[in-house]
Amino acid sequence: MVCHVCLEPNTNYEQIENFTRYRCGTYQLRIINPPRITNESCRYIVSGHIRENQSPHKPFELTQAIIDRLETMPKPTFEHNVIRLMRYIEFKTTYYGEPIEIDTRNFSSTPELIAICYAHTINEVDFLRRYLYLEKLISEEKGGFYALTFKGFKYLESLKNNINSDLCFCAMCFDEDCKGIFDDLLEPAVRNAGWNIQRVDQTHYHEGVMDQIITLIRESKFVIADLTKNKKGVYFEAGFAKGFGKEIIFTCKEEDMKELHFDVRHYNFLVWSDKDLEKGKKELKARITATIGYGPHKKIDGPLKMAINQ
Ligand SMILES: [Zn+2]
Repeated sequence: MVCHVCLEPNTNYEQIENFTRYRCGTYQLRIINPPRITNESCRYIVSGHIRENQSPHKPFELTQAIIDRLETMPKPTFEHNVIRLMRYIEFKTTYYGEPIEIDTRNFSSTPELIAICYAHTINEVDFLRRYLYLEKLISEEKGGFYALTFKGFKYLESLKNNINSDLCFCAMCFDEDCKGIFDDLLEPAVRNAGWNIQRVDQTHYHEGVMDQIITLIRESKFVIADLTKNKKGVYFEAGFAKGFGKEIIFTCKEEDMKELHFDVRHYNFLVWSDKDLEKGKKELKARITATIGYGPHKKIDGPLKMAINQ
């Protein structure tokens, strides 16, 4: 079987229940009339996006709407891809100095590295690896195995204090009927303002998800807390974000404003209506750029032009 996204044959990858794991990750799509990637040069972005957003308990659902949106996204920056490779090593590390395999000559044991780094080919991963090595962020332990150095860990630690973060964390209700809040309002507004966005899929609540949430909040530049449906979890996450000193933008659906807890009513809520999501999207983007500024992925001229930091 060939991967629908990266078009590579699924060689030594396993089948998990009804889903096949590719280097792009585990994803599912409609078999009849599957979503199409029209811009060939975007395959690597879709591939990286699946890797980054899949949950360990549920395959990522690849839809046409997601592909269409990714096709208009700016190219991921070199710096962010370097960070992704470092995070991969950090994630695999169980003790300091542990050699982690990044074998770019024979990558069959770790083909997912290409997707993880939003790379086109293994040569691009190799370029990132060499950069990390020359900058002394990783050290070579044995052929094809590397460990994060003191400098490497320190750099990752500095990101946790959000110095270079391009990330917006979204705290929101995860009920099935709230999916549109993320897909049609929050995500497009945040991306149009030039920021990257992440939410944790909590539909399959599992151990460690809270750690993941706290890490993401710490690593994010700012947080959007949507209090539609008045969920306790969102208050909790917003409280964490406040504690970490993050800027929070509160949003809520018009009808649910009256349900808000007394403690948060004095915040300047961005109130949206599902009768006019287009308006909500524009206003949210304006709120983000006014309070946080434009993010590093701001579109300037054509979808794939690199953004210039302002
Ligand atoms: Zn693939």
